[in-house]
Amino acid sequence: MTPSHNIVFSAEALGQLKGGLRGEVLLAGEPGYDQARQVWNNMIDRKPALIVRCRGAGDVIAAVNFARRNNLQVAVRGGGHSVVGHSVCDGGLVIDLSLMKSVRVDPVTQTARAEGGCTWHDVDFETQAFGLAVTGGQVSHTGIGGLTLGGGFGYLARKFGLTIDNLLSVDLVTAEGQLIHASSAENPDLFWAVRGGGGNFGVVTSFEYRLHPLGPIVAGGIAMFPLNQAQSALEFYRDLTETAPDELAVQAIFMTAPPAPFVPPDIQGTKVLTLAMCYAGPIEEGMGYVERIRSFSRPVVDMLGPIPYVVQQSLVDEAARFGQNYYVHGTFSEGLPDGLIEALVAGADNQMTSPGSFILVTPLAGQVARVSREATAYAYREARYSIDVNFGWLDLQESEEQIQAARDLSAVLGAFTTGKSYVNLVAEDDEKGTRTAYPPDTYARLQEVKRKYDPANFFRLNQNIKP
Ligand SMILES: Cc1cc2nc3c(=O)[nH]c(=O)nc-3n(C[C@H](O)[C@H](O)[C@H](O)COP(=O)(O)OP(=O)(O)OC[C@H]3O[C@@H](n4cnc5c(N)ncnc54)[C@H](O)[C@@H]3O)c2cc1C
Repeated sequence: MTPSHNIVFSAEALGQLKGGLRGEVLLAGEPGYDQARQVWNNMIDRKPALIVRCRGAGDVIAAVNFARRNNLQVAVRGGGHSVVGHSVCDGGLVIDLSLMKSVRVDPVTQTARAEGGCTWHDVDFETQAFGLAVTGGQVSHTGIGGLTLGGGFGYLARKFGLTIDNLLSVDLVTAEGQLIHASSAENPDLFWAVRGGGGNFGVVTSFEYRLHPLGPIVAGGIAMFPLNQAQSALEFYRDLTETAPDELAVQAIFMTAPPAPFVPPDIQGTKVLTLAMCYAGPIEEGMGYVERIRSFSRPVVDMLGPIPYVVQQSLVDEAARFGQNYYVHGTFSEGLPDGLIEALVAGADNQMTSPGSFILVTPLAGQVARVSREATAYAYREARYSIDVNFGWLDLQESEEQIQAARDLSAVLGAFTTGKSYVNLVAEDDEKGTRTAYPPDTYARLQEVKRKYDPANFFRLNQNIKP
């Protein structure tokens, strides 16, 4: 018998599991186990009984069946970026998809099928080889799994819609260990639910996306302004975003300028407002917006101009790196009133004390808002901005202070935001938190689908929909 916390499973059962896999099983103490249980947020330090590193749908089915038969809690790991730690558990079984990274692009139909363990780097890299892209996250080491299942926004969302608005189908392993297909024609209730309902319904082994011609070079990049110009820079940003075509996406990021060669020495380590832009249209048109940002005021860092889209997608990778301690609270706003701008600047000045922290303003609207609210489980389509407090720090002893500061700032910003959340950025890991991501009728419909596909709540390590 192999003891693990309160759970036991027989050596024979374990042997059968191992013998039936293409991938591998990692147990505590084995080489690779500690690395495989690490997730993006260093605050999450959990020790699963076993980690099944899957190489395909067959392995996922075997892992699901093993966990169900042995009454093990299951965590599903895509890219491991769940801030609250949903992709690893204590004492249960982790279904680790991170070896499942194949991407097949069909340039004729302009579609791609990507396995559930891909990161956005994997998908962008392969699709850009054909000058195609789908809306993805803005940090390339983020997983497509969690990001897609929650909705998915990034530079291309205003032009092409959320990631889920470009999702054509999924292959999914249910709690019963059955592989099923969901699309608008097949299991449409499930297809509705996986577009915003998170990992509640099963393990998605592959996602099929509609692609769009883009790049490989776009007009984009970043410009940094000193904090004492942040107020006017954000007012300029608001005017620009509110009047811009869908092609233009500019994200505003309060951050500490990194010690990078492209940052002048006297700016390194100081707080700045970064405008990160990407134009999803002809470069000449996009360069017009580059000039507008450049000429608004003199940026202290100017890296705007033609840039490969895959580079654009990884510009803030290092800043949002693995291994720091993080607390993230995301919410929506319907605009950027003066009061919100003032609160953001004051928050960056006073509460954002660690160089690993950010406050992000991400533009939505455009095509995101044109899709009907009932079409997908992601329902808050009227939101014009996502406002995210993303605090990161190195020393675990600072955790209490940093989390409190992030909560305090979120409370101040709350006077100007909707109080609703993007399910992938809900800070509080409980039912109340999950409910902030869905209107009551959407939550009720998600419960119906949950009752049909996972009545025993086998997949519950997620923003959980109670069946
Ligand atoms: C640095 C950083 C940048 C981000 N940038 C963006 C952004 O630009 N746009 C945006 O929309 N969001 C963004 N997010 C939020 C992001 O969407 C969520 O953190 C998301 O959960 C990450 O997915 P993952 O697969 O990496 O995470 P994981 O921790 O692996 O998974 C998250 C949840 O999804 C489930 N899950 C993952 N894969 C599967 C699968 N294949 N099948 C079933 N369930 C699965 C997990 O069980 C878990 O419940 C960002 C987050 C971080 C930390």
